[in-house]
Amino acid sequence: MNIILLGAPGAGKGTQAETLVKDFNLKHISTGDILREEVKKGSPVGLEAKEYMDKGLLVPDEVVIKLVAGAISGFGSRQGFLLDGFPRNENQAKMLEEKLCLVNRSINRVIYLKVSKEVVISRLSGRRICKDCGAVYHLKNIPPKKEGICDKCSGVLYQREDDSEKTVLNRLEVYKKETGGLINYYKDKNLLSEVDGDLAQEGTYALMLKEINNNCE
Ligand code: AMP
Repeated sequence: MNIILLGAPGAGKGTQAETLVKDFNLKHISTGDILREEVKKGSPVGLEAKEYMDKGLLVPDEVVIKLVAGAISGFGSRQGFLLDGFPRNENQAKMLEEKLCLVNRSINRVIYLKVSKEVVISRLSGRRICKDCGAVYHLKNIPPKKEGICDKCSGVLYQREDDSEKTVLNRLEVYKKETGGLINYYKDKNLLSEVDGDLAQEGTYALMLKEINNNCE
């Protein structure tokens, strides 16, 4: 089973992906995570990507599709995957189809997490991430047991640079302009399931499971 998680920044894609990949034994491909890893390494791709990421803009399509294609070709043809944060525009969606077609694969379902602007802003401004293991917390909704410290590995928690209020508003604009069109794109292909992403994690996850069970073999 191959799934795309679609939704605005802060829609909960990463959080839902964590559970979904465990329950369905999927490979998690988050372009945001891959890009942040490249930035951390200081690789040429990372250096190029950082300029866009810091402003909340999209990294060029060619750069991102190469990373995704590399990730998909890295595991067996029967291994299902979950795309999180990719595609982000129609061009990427088409490039993805071409790459998948070459290896006789396709997308089974696109889950669109629909969220309100207020929820997105509250989620992103309170989001904190572990520097070491990448675990995600929220100051109010999922606070760590000890302030500023990861429950899982005792790493230090930090706020992503692009979660600052100004960049968040920019990311939302970019999402509306570039990614919003994908909702109709996948609706027209009869692949889209719209799910309420404003609910608490378990509530949204239950709706996602229902959609997957009803629409995927
Ligand atoms: P995310 O973690 O998905 O919110 O992504 C963080 C940032 O990485 C975005 O604001 C973009 O700058 C970049 N990025 C992630 N995925 C993509 C993508 N599919 N296309 C272009 N840029 C991306």
